Amino acid sequence: MNFSPLIAILVFSVCMAVQTRTADRKMAVTIDDLPYAGVGRTELPQVHRATDKILASLRAHRAPAVAFVNEEQLQVTGELEARTALLRQWVDSGMILGNHTYSHPDFNQLTIEQFEEEILKGEVVTRRLMRSRRPYQLYFRHPMNHTGDTLAKKEAIEEYLSERGYKIAPHTIENSDFVFNAVYVLALRDKDEVTAKRVRDAYLDFTMAATEFAERFSPQIFGREVTQTLLIHANDLNADCLDDLLSRFAERGYRFVTLDKAMKDPAYQTKDTLVSRMGPTWLWRWMKSKGMNISFAGDPDPPQWVTDRYQKWLSSR
Ligand SMILES: [Zn+2]
Repeated sequence: MNFSPLIAILVFSVCMAVQTRTADRKMAVTIDDLPYAGVGRTELPQVHRATDKILASLRAHRAPAVAFVNEEQLQVTGELEARTALLRQWVDSGMILGNHTYSHPDFNQLTIEQFEEEILKGEVVTRRLMRSRRPYQLYFRHPMNHTGDTLAKKEAIEEYLSERGYKIAPHTIENSDFVFNAVYVLALRDKDEVTAKRVRDAYLDFTMAATEFAERFSPQIFGREVTQTLLIHANDLNADCLDDLLSRFAERGYRFVTLDKAMKDPAYQTKDTLVSRMGPTWLWRWMKSKGMNISFAGDPDPPQWVTDRYQKWLSSR
């Protein structure tokens, strides 16, 4: 009996399995709250350090990013120039700057008109800095991903953004980095390197668990893994972890693509019709918009000790 066809089929199957596991995944990276998502009062050198390290990690992994600015952060007496220069670093590194409103307000608390003002005021410096990159796709991200707590508000702002040339930036993976970051920054301030390392390790593991969840969930909606879009913040934790984080994604078979490219994945053409006071991931929005009801059980939470410390810090403010 000749086994060679069988062996050939086996080898082919194994190769295909390995390939789908290691070569087919795509991810866009988005980074919020530029120039810097700090914990309490922050000095400029800290912002410089975080900016330099995050950009170095993105460059090292050839990961293009869209980074969302809150221009209010530039208005620090005597620091306007220096803070604007930080944003210029992103542009010079090939990243796209997006609009995240002027002052990061909660759309649930604002009228349509107030929110429109926030959008307009939030694009002044960013559009100027990005002039050399025209034409480029304008992106907007709602603070907290609160896209409208009534259908009227949601649709009015969608139309306003579309008229101004903006696309709304979705995300499919979110890793509660702001929770880990608060605990991390407090540990750094206490010079508690043992806890700092523990936070970094927990953050990396948690992000991978959140990624695995998104990988398992998207085939239930679309019958395949979709291009993922990661949402993280410009903070100290990512300054110190992004290099490792991107390595871990690469080990899972991810190739980093622009958000423009991610948006070309047909899944991203699904219209988000969900009206909510919360800011869920687009996997949830797409699932609901398609009239499906798939359990989000298994969506991981950060470790309890991290959440406890975060809550303690919140209540002490
Ligand atoms: Zn934000």
